Amino acid sequence: MTAPLFDRLALIGIGLIGSSLAQVVRQKGLAKHVAISTRSEDTLRRAEELGLGDSYSQDAAVAADGADLVILCVPVGAYEAVAKWIAPVLQSGAILTDVGSTKTSVIEAVGPYVPDGVHFIPGHPIAGTEQSGPDAGFASLFENRWCIFTPPPGTDEAAIAKLTEFWQECGSYVDQMDPEHHDKVLAIVSHLPHIIAYNIVGTADDLETVTKSEVIKYSASGFRDFTRLAASDPTMWRDVCLNNKDAILEMLSRFSEDLSALQRAIRWGDGDKLFELFTRTRSVRRSIIEAGQEIDMPDFGRVKPD
Ligand code: NAP
Repeated sequence: MTAPLFDRLALIGIGLIGSSLAQVVRQKGLAKHVAISTRSEDTLRRAEELGLGDSYSQDAAVAADGADLVILCVPVGAYEAVAKWIAPVLQSGAILTDVGSTKTSVIEAVGPYVPDGVHFIPGHPIAGTEQSGPDAGFASLFENRWCIFTPPPGTDEAAIAKLTEFWQECGSYVDQMDPEHHDKVLAIVSHLPHIIAYNIVGTADDLETVTKSEVIKYSASGFRDFTRLAASDPTMWRDVCLNNKDAILEMLSRFSEDLSALQRAIRWGDGDKLFELFTRTRSVRRSIIEAGQEIDMPDFGRVKPD
């Protein structure tokens, strides 16, 4: 247990990310009081059953009132409404942050509502699973993962240092970048892979020459790994696509050009080109394993049936 860094933490949204934060905060004693808010009665009741917080309310302003740390953990499309809702109760000196997957849009949506004296530090933990809801959360989600801050110029350094300490206590490494750069980086490392996965799974589902039962039966040959990404929360990913449109379209057009080149190499039997690309990409995976961002186990560590 560490000494609490905050007196009152308000978590607005208690799905996968909010629940994981609640659990690590309680496990490590990072806040004296954890106030939880979510829009639906069912999710709120489930959070209470799981014992994720000290107080519970469907009113985000009730949770945020008196908090010295407020973390928005709702889909990015809901940010503006939530920011407007809690703004009147945000206390001077409090830190307002978030976990949203896009950053330029978040600054545009929340920035105008942040009262003077409140430190707004947009953040994004690069950690997640394809699951959603409070039951999906777990305390070690952020361990050895990066959390990126995109603070506006002039943000109070002491507030950044305090939030850095908070995420480090949650097990993360912290980095800073400007929001536009964040959105481009995430477009290629996260948003595009999800879009490609949604697309390939959709294409397979639409095929008429291959039956659905064959797709499922032989999925271990590659398709299965796309289905994990394609099972991600539809609301969250709709909002990511709508809120990081420019960077995603830029990366998609690069991707389409490269795919055309690959298509040409296959059509013309250019084995050297294919071999060169597949060798280069294999080394990217090795670098990810060396950086501790993936496990080096056959079949991603899946347990084999007896
Ligand atoms: P989640 O499990 O689906 O939970 C979403 C939470 O937000 C629930 O409490 C839900 O409330 C609430 N919510 C949904 N729509 C809302 C709306 N229109 N207005 C107010 N509240 C709403 O989502 P999550 O995976 O934790 O994602 C939360 C945030 O983290 C998103 O901004 C996402 O971009 C970001 N993020 C996600 C991942 C990931 O892998 N999942 C990784 C990094 C960052 P009810 O259940 O009560 O309706």
